[in-house]
Amino acid sequence: MEKRNHPPGPSQEKWETTSRALAYYGLLLRLWCAFAAAALVLLSIKELLGYSNDLFDYLRALIISLIVTPALCAAIRKRWFWHWLGTPLIAAAIILTVEALDAALRYLFTGEVIWFVDTKETLLLIVLTAPMTYLVAADIYQREQTVRQLSYLAYHDQLTGLPNRQMFQETLTLSIDAAKHSQQQLSVMLIDLDRFKNVNETFGHEFGDQLLKEAAWRLQTGLRTGDVVARQGGDEFTLYLKDTGQTDDAEKIAQKIMRLLGQPFSIQGHVLRVGCSIGIAMYPIDGEDSVTLMKNADTALYRAKDRGKNGYQFFQAEMNETVIQKLIMEEWLNQALEHDEFILHYQPQVDIFTSRMNGMEALIRWNHPRLGFISPGEFIPLAEETGLIIPIGEWVLRTACKQNKVWQAAGFTPIKMAVNISPIQFHQPDFVQVVLRALQDSGLEPQYLELEITEGIAMVHVDQVIQKLQTLRDLGVHISMDDFGTGYSSLSYLKKFPINKLKIAQQFVRDITDDPDDAAIIQAIMAMAHSLKLNVIAEGVETEEQLSFLLGVKCREIQGYIFSKPIPAREFTSLLQRLSA
Ligand SMILES: [Mg+2]
Repeated sequence: MEKRNHPPGPSQEKWETTSRALAYYGLLLRLWCAFAAAALVLLSIKELLGYSNDLFDYLRALIISLIVTPALCAAIRKRWFWHWLGTPLIAAAIILTVEALDAALRYLFTGEVIWFVDTKETLLLIVLTAPMTYLVAADIYQREQTVRQLSYLAYHDQLTGLPNRQMFQETLTLSIDAAKHSQQQLSVMLIDLDRFKNVNETFGHEFGDQLLKEAAWRLQTGLRTGDVVARQGGDEFTLYLKDTGQTDDAEKIAQKIMRLLGQPFSIQGHVLRVGCSIGIAMYPIDGEDSVTLMKNADTALYRAKDRGKNGYQFFQAEMNETVIQKLIMEEWLNQALEHDEFILHYQPQVDIFTSRMNGMEALIRWNHPRLGFISPGEFIPLAEETGLIIPIGEWVLRTACKQNKVWQAAGFTPIKMAVNISPIQFHQPDFVQVVLRALQDSGLEPQYLELEITEGIAMVHVDQVIQKLQTLRDLGVHISMDDFGTGYSSLSYLKKFPINKLKIAQQFVRDITDDPDDAAIIQAIMAMAHSLKLNVIAEGVETEEQLSFLLGVKCREIQGYIFSKPIPAREFTSLLQRLSA
């Protein structure tokens, strides 16, 4: 992978300076100790060999310790040691310096010029100095490497080698300061890979990591010199572009990035496309500091994703309001369960061959104390995004089972209760247990519960999905495929999945009598269901024409306003009473 040089941030510089200073003084101290010891050893060896040490010898030991070591230290810091010739050259320089000083001292005191008083002594000095110098230098080199490595780790993402969030934040702050002085514009982009979660879940983390590496590399190739790209975490990347005088400049680069990341990725023999969404904020119009710019780029990114992903979006001031609204809504949603603000409405399902009600679907409604009813279309996506769908979904399941048992206990003919299951809820490891508990606690028999799953469930972990569905089927619970025809179900999935029923999406039923395509789709679904021995129910049936068409294609069950809209439990009780009278 191509490596780029990124300017270090202020705290990185400080950190490196401190580490270097510590290393330097540590080196100096150790060299002093080492050379003082060497000088002492030298003097002792000489005594042992029968030589006598004169005043010059002691002076020389002092000189080595006090003067030569800082010089040696400087040599090491200048990295002269890393060359293979460095160590012997420096050792030789030390010896020569010491000899020169020795000669100078002798000349001062005695007036004689004597070089290399004792060859054996000089050789001994070389033998002791060279390896010692080398060992100390190697140790210092190791330490410097460690400092560099730690600094790299603290400021880079290990997987992609890109700068990390910390470094990005710091360099962005510096660039903003620079832009302030030079009165230039710059832009910040937040890039998020679309569908990355699916990739990770389907192919595993190792695969996902490879994709991230490849994406990081592509991003780097798309930049101009001076632009910086960093990994923010997960599948999010940030980048800033210097001197983007016109919105056009940023736009061109955003388009280039979309193109680069939009090309198929080929990893471990699989070829797939992920695409990306980009949020852009410009300095100074969208914010004058790094935090505001990042926050606004994030808001723009959120909007880009909200608009169907695979696009880029410039920040606009009014966006903040909708984001705030979303946050408030999230807060409310958090409290809604505790405050008992959810209720269920029930919509009858009818067998049109016999004109009898044979089931119902439980549909959640949120009755907010101030706003009144908030439609599921508004809060379910938010609940899914925040994970609140798990407790909310469990509440729906338990309440619906309990209510069905209440009607059975009141003596009405037992019928099935259909409950919608979100893919997130379904993929929870304890989902089967949650269903079992709801049945046990309510006392409802499993054959009176029907779970409506969507085609989206089948997108990942197909084997686990089949296993879970089979377990539920074995218990006696019915499974139906909701909104059939809108997703990606293939015939092979349908054959593999242990389901009982297909629920034709409302959108096909709506135009059944006007749009020949929709009519053809329904006929095809009926034929397929017939050959797979699946029941079919059509939802959203509102008119007599739709009803007679469905009768004509032998679609046995329907649900829709033509019979009844979803109604609260009390009204449903009245309906049951009227029907059984
Ligand atoms: Mg449904």
